[in-house]
This record gives sequence, structure tokens and C-alpha cells, in this order.
Amino acid sequence: MIVDYHMHLRGSDDEPRGRYSAERAEEYVEQARRTGVDEIGFSDHVYHFVQTSELWEIPWMLERCVDDLDEYVGAVTEAKARGLPVKLGLEVDYFPGTERELARLLAAYPWDYLLGSVHFVDGFPVDQEPGLVHKVPVGEAWRRYFTWLRNAARSGLFDVLAHPDLIKFFRMRPADDDLHYLHVETADAIEAAGVCVEVSAAGLHKPTGEIYPDRELLAACRERGVPVTLASDAHEPAHVGRDINRAAELARDVGYQTVTVFDGRARRQEPMG
Ligand SMILES: [Zn+2]
Ligand SMILES: [Zn+2]
Repeated sequence: MIVDYHMHLRGSDDEPRGRYSAERAEEYVEQARRTGVDEIGFSDHVYHFVQTSELWEIPWMLERCVDDLDEYVGAVTEAKARGLPVKLGLEVDYFPGTERELARLLAAYPWDYLLGSVHFVDGFPVDQEPGLVHKVPVGEAWRRYFTWLRNAARSGLFDVLAHPDLIKFFRMRPADDDLHYLHVETADAIEAAGVCVEVSAAGLHKPTGEIYPDRELLAACRERGVPVTLASDAHEPAHVGRDINRAAELARDVGYQTVTVFDGRARRQEPMG
């Protein structure tokens, strides 16, 4: 089985309004079929939904907080009711201090899974210019990013950590020894938290040019029995399943034989391939 559990039904982050409908979901499913993906999951950004506006302080997020969460959930639920192989997820930004209110807000919806993402650290974006790596020394940027990621894992809010080493976006890295320590420490925290990690092909199409996460981090997760999902991070139907086979190949290469399938926030393993 091949899943693609990270994509955005709304379209681009910069479009004025989200385009949520079962018909549009069907276009994503059609592309999934063409790319050999058996099941897809939608994971639109939590900050697009007005219901969450009180949680955010970053102007970039607040400017985009215009869509209706019920409309999104309704579109995916309708697609499911039509028998399409789709799951209902959400890509949720982690900020310390928002945990309780987020949990309360999200409890009202029938999620199959929640992705946890760190896109901003200490007010600085991770994957936008000028990023955290441009604002503080690179080693410090990486240390802070992974501290936030480990806290996201431990928060208990999420089922899967999305693009786990997004901090490599701008191709600026600390020395190998420091990196090794961060990878091991992070894999330990992920194992202890009992969450999955996403193997995402999205990085292949970003400045980093690499799959998230690094082979060393993924191998450390494998050694600890951390389950994985696969992801394209498509923002339009044409990108569903893009390079997902390369993500699956990396996972197999470090020893993974199964992929995680979610249903109502319960997870099981299915043979990958
Ligand atoms: Zn993301
Ligand atoms: Zn995304």
C-alpha cells in the first residue's frame, strides 16, 4: 500500500479563499490513481480557518485566516461518503501555550489524523525569507527548531510530525557532529512520544533539494520502531503523489517494510508497496 497523507485541498496559501469541495477532492484522487497512490489524506493548514484565529500572533498567519473549517471538513466528509479513498487530516502549527485551546477546538471534528508542523520558531519563519537560519547562527537555529519539534511531539496533540527537518530548507547546516546529536536526541523524543514521522518528497522541489527527513534521522527513527507515513505536500491536484516513490524508496532503504494507515485517529501498519 502507498499512501500520500499530506496535501492541501484549498490550493495555494496565497489564494484569497480556499476552494473546498468534494468535486475538487475527486481531482486529487484521480491524480493519486495515476501515480500509484492507494489512499490520500487532506491536511489543510489550521491557520486558514477563522475558527482558529484567536490562537495566532504571526501576521502572515492572521492575514490568511479567512476560510471556514466546517466547509473544509464538509467537503472531505462528502468525498468519503462518495466512497473515495480519502482521509480527513489537518496540518496544525505547533506553538507552545496553544495546546489546550487547540485540543478543545479540534475535538469537535472527525479527524483521521493530525499532522504537527513547526513553520515558525520564536517568531521567525523556518521556510520563508528571511528565515530563522538567517537571523541567528545556523547551529543555534537548528537547535531551536528541533527543541520546538520535540515539544510538538510531546504535546500529545499530533499523530504525525510533518516534514521533520524543515529547518534544512535553505541548505544551511551545522557541523556533522552537532547534527548527529540533534538527530539522535530527536529520534529518542519521537519514540517516547509515540508519534509517527512523515517521509516527505516535498523537499525535492524546494531549495534543499532533499527528502525530509535526512536519512540519518529516519534511520534513527527506524531503529526505535517509529512508524512512518508518506507525503507529497501537494497544493494542487497535479502534484499528488509527486516523487512519493522516492520517499518510499528511502524508507525501504533504512529498513521500513510497512506504512501507517489512519482511521479515526487509530493507526495500523500495512505492507509498503
Ligand atoms: Zn508544512
Ligand atoms: Zn503542507
